[in-house]
Amino acid sequence: MLNMDFTKNPNTTFCGNPGICAECASQGPTCCRCGTSEEELVAPLSGEEWQRMVRLVPWIENGRFVVREHNSHSFIQGIQTLFPGSEHEALNSFPLGGHHLRLAQNNLGQCALLGPSGCLLPETARPYFCQLYPFWFTGETLKVFGDPHCLAIRSLHTADSLCAALGTHPEKLSRIYSRLCLAWGIPPPDRYRVTGD
Ligand code: SF4
Ligand code: SF4
Repeated sequence: MLNMDFTKNPNTTFCGNPGICAECASQGPTCCRCGTSEEELVAPLSGEEWQRMVRLVPWIENGRFVVREHNSHSFIQGIQTLFPGSEHEALNSFPLGGHHLRLAQNNLGQCALLGPSGCLLPETARPYFCQLYPFWFTGETLKVFGDPHCLAIRSLHTADSLCAALGTHPEKLSRIYSRLCLAWGIPPPDRYRVTGD
């Protein structure tokens, strides 16, 4: 699933349907699968995020869908790469030797919440990182992960078309990004500051 490797193509900048994600899921591997040796790099899930997910989708509260992962060097490095200029805050939130929550994977590296036509959760109940993907922000600049497996990225080459195909728009993405920052203990850009859900 959502591997935080931002280094594949960190300079790619686009500004950012469920239809295309369902098609992507039918072809695999999608952004909801990672290499079985890369689980430590799966995006973290804050306790607040997990509680929000359980509140919205109570059937996930059976312990199968979330695991506790240690904060490895590679994981911390990945988080710090995601937040240039906030490396110190990232380390405070995810200290070496500490632990964080992440979604569970099956033995193929697929997120336990991935179904044959994509995510089993309604969009608003997904982790913030999932709601954002494949978009990200560096400061206030909207970017796209350099994911060669993303069908949307492979098929669409303009900011507007990528946003439209994924049913989103930059303003919505900025609000989600701010919520993710708050949940992960990183200061959000002033312009995008939000409070709560
Ligand atoms: S929660 Fe849904 S969108 Fe997020 S990784 Fe799992 S299957 Fe994919
Ligand atoms: S965001 Fe991209 S990689 Fe993820 S399911 Fe949609 S098309 Fe596939």
